[in-house]
This record gives sequence, structure tokens and C-alpha cells, in this order.
Amino acid sequence: MNILMILGHAHSASTLVGILLGSSPDITFIGEEYDFFREDALDDYCTCGERVGNCPFWSRVNERLIELEGPDFRKEIKGGYRGLHRDAIYFLGKEHPCQERCKQIISSFYKSLHEQAGTKYLLSSAKNVAYARKILEDLFGPETLKYLITVRNPMGAVASFLRHGWSFWQSVRIIGTTYVMLKLAVPRTRRFVVKYEDWINNPVEFFHKLTQKLDAALPEWDVHRSENTIAIKPLKQIHIFAGNKIRKKEKHLIKEDLRWKTELSLEQKIIVSTTLLPLYKLLY
Ligand SMILES: [Zn+2]
Repeated sequence: MNILMILGHAHSASTLVGILLGSSPDITFIGEEYDFFREDALDDYCTCGERVGNCPFWSRVNERLIELEGPDFRKEIKGGYRGLHRDAIYFLGKEHPCQERCKQIISSFYKSLHEQAGTKYLLSSAKNVAYARKILEDLFGPETLKYLITVRNPMGAVASFLRHGWSFWQSVRIIGTTYVMLKLAVPRTRRFVVKYEDWINNPVEFFHKLTQKLDAALPEWDVHRSENTIAIKPLKQIHIFAGNKIRKKEKHLIKEDLRWKTELSLEQKIIVSTTLLPLYKLLY
């Protein structure tokens, strides 16, 4: 089993990176897969248009997991992590009584995903360093995991945070901490940096190179170029239901997002260009 884990700050286009890369015949994109443990997960809609409970991919993962771990695995995870199946995993530590059972369930979950996908890689956009490094590496061995770090120029990133309701200073703090943390938390030999500015204007070349580095087959897309946009249609059915709500989109229009130029005030631009921008340039 090989797992590719997207780590990166929010609004770094990680879902789109997942879809583009997940169009390789060797890679199965599973989105923010641990949302599968949410109690209402089966009622959510998958990108294939079916509800997760009827989707040909996820319904089989669900059936297999019931075979392996019994029908109550969602309740057990929820009980163990008090409903916070995401971040609480990190804080509980190994001595927590539910830890071993929850890890067993997660292990069987990946086994089911791997069997159903049948590809060299599973690609997750969970973006949770602790989950990846403390749980998944512990279960499957460190060499099983490779990391894709999605980052973006802080001007665009801050503007995107503001659009989603964050305050300016919160955005600066979160983005800055994530820049540093990702560089510290992920071993150099197992990380690939996916900079928004490097791929947004030339996705075909960028993702071809990246799949070659990963020793995976090239993504299969229909590509239509117009003046300053590229429309990409993955030729493979992708099944995700968590993360950004990209629903049944036929094509993905790829265009550099420069809205920050008008959305950020002069003062905000000065603050970002004297704090986050030098950090971004230094680290990435
Ligand atoms: Zn589906």
C-alpha cells in the first residue's frame, strides 16, 4: 500500500490538485477520507452523483469494513474520539483506552480502500499532519506515506481566507504557522511541494512531471485551452464526498485567481508583503 497525503493550508486548491492528480490510472483520489466516519456520511453525495451509501466505490468500502470490523465501527470511532474523529486523534495519545480499537478500525478502513481502489496509490486530501504521521505512519510504516505540500502565495491565500469569513489576523497567523509547520513536520525525502503559482498556468506540464516523480502513469484528461483559461475534464470517475463541495463537475476551469489585487486593502497588502511573503519565499 502507498498513500499520498496532501498537506497544506486551507484554500491552497488542494481538492483540485487531488482531482487532477487522481486522474492517473495509478492513483485513486479519496478526498478527506476520514469524513467516512461521520455518522451521516452515507447520506452525503459523492461526486459520481450517487449518495455515498449507493456509490459503487464507497458502498463497497462500507460493506467490506462491516465484514472486517462489524456494523458499529462509526459509533466506536465516535465514542473513542468523542465525536471529533479528526483532530482529537492527535490529542488523545497512545494511552487512551480507545486508541488501539480505533487504530484497528482505521487500519481495516485503509485495507478496504486499497482493495476497492486497486491502484498503486491512494491519494488523501485530509491535510492533517498528526493523523498522517502519528496514526497512518504508525500503522503502515513511514515509507508508505509520501506528502504533497500544497501552498500558495500569501496574498491570494489571505484574500481567500477573508472571503470565507476569517479575520485578517487569523488568516495571517494560520497561514504563517502552516508554512513553518509543514516544513518542520514532514521529512524532506518524502515530500513534494505543489506551489499554486507553479501549476495554475501550466497544469499539464506540472502534473506530468509530478506523476513521473511518483513513478505513476500520466493523468488522463481532456484538455481544452482558451485565451487565458484551461478546461480540464478528468476521463476517470472520481469518488469523493468531503472537502470542497465539487459536485459532478464535468470540467474544471483552471485560471489563476488574482482577486486579491482588488480585495485586499493597501494596508493589508503591506502587512502581508512584509511578514508572510518573505517567509513564503524563504521556505518555498
Ligand atoms: Zn461515487
